[in-house]
Amino acid sequence: MSDSKIWLSSPHMGGTEQKYVQEAFDTNWIAPLGPNVNGFEKDLESYLNENVYVGALSSGTAAIHLGLILLGIKSGDEVICQSMTFSASANPILYLGATPVFIDSEKETWNICPIALEEAIKDRISKGTKPKAIIAVHLYGMPYKVEEINAISKKYEIPVLEDSAEALGSYYKNQKCGTFGEIGVLSFNGNKIITTSGGGAIVAKSKETKDKAVFLSTQARDNAPHYQHSEVGYNYRMSNICAGIGRGQMEVLDSHVHLRRAMHSFYRDLFSKIDGVIVLTEMDDNCFSNHWLSVITIDRKKIGKTAEDLRIAFEQCNIESRPLWKPMHLQPIFQSYPYYGNNVAESLFENGLCLPSGSNLTMDDKNRIEEVITTFFKS
Ligand SMILES: *Cc1c(COP(=O)(O)O)cnc(C)c1O
Repeated sequence: MSDSKIWLSSPHMGGTEQKYVQEAFDTNWIAPLGPNVNGFEKDLESYLNENVYVGALSSGTAAIHLGLILLGIKSGDEVICQSMTFSASANPILYLGATPVFIDSEKETWNICPIALEEAIKDRISKGTKPKAIIAVHLYGMPYKVEEINAISKKYEIPVLEDSAEALGSYYKNQKCGTFGEIGVLSFNGNKIITTSGGGAIVAKSKETKDKAVFLSTQARDNAPHYQHSEVGYNYRMSNICAGIGRGQMEVLDSHVHLRRAMHSFYRDLFSKIDGVIVLTEMDDNCFSNHWLSVITIDRKKIGKTAEDLRIAFEQCNIESRPLWKPMHLQPIFQSYPYYGNNVAESLFENGLCLPSGSNLTMDDKNRIEEVITTFFKS
């Protein structure tokens, strides 16, 4: 195997990141606070452009954890969560001793199904426990059904925690993802559309909420000369070094979105001639996906081969592809919790595949990918 590895989604530096990191060294701001942290937060606030307040944290998972705390989630509460997602959406529910209630996907965006969501809320209320929050996820960058979910949130007065970890740069009706929930969450892990090597952010509607998140993320220190604590604190603040990488990455975010979307068009063209393969695409012009990952489903009856067969064909050519997120209600750690829906998420998982989608793939990479696909669907 002489060809170099093609990754599903790898870090893509823009060029100015090291300048910000060097500045941090030059001024000795080697700490989880400093000018890069403040600057990165400002950059994100002006990018999201909805009068939001952003707190930079050590990870997206930390942002979900603090987000649930800020929404008042306590031990014994129920929290609704999209089943088809990365486990980091749901794990913080367990950190708090709360109970996850999982919801199926709908077929258009693959995200939380409004019908199953409302059915679940009604059923939980009839059983005597009204859920305290809804975690909705813009999977692979595709906006969930924002209006339907918000209407249900309003009707039942249950706040939405918007997991926008995969959707920085996506929008719905010209409003950026990350700004729809009571609290929004971003991630800058190594494989996301921009990265700080590891990092995340909480998006708040008020300065008080942001300040509270930052307070909790820096060990909940009361205002006193000594270290005094009246609440449980966390060590979740973003480092000034990582934030420097983030500032450089913000300069190329729009170009990364453009390049990821070009990968999506590349796949749409390739598969347009193949009956039995669906590429996840915006359902209408109100939705704009950053297409963080390009994802397909393969109809095994029509094609005679499975998504797993294609994954193996890629692997043999040193190209990484990956099954979709295995739904949470099928995971050993979560399978004993309530679940509402049919089997949409399950069937997506069985038939789906995430394709190499990086903003840094070359013409040569694309040729290799195309060759595997052409050969696979010919034979
Ligand atoms: C990446 C991701 C997270 C977690 O973010 P980290 O920064 O890796 O902790 C949460 N939810 C979803 C949907 C993700 O893809």
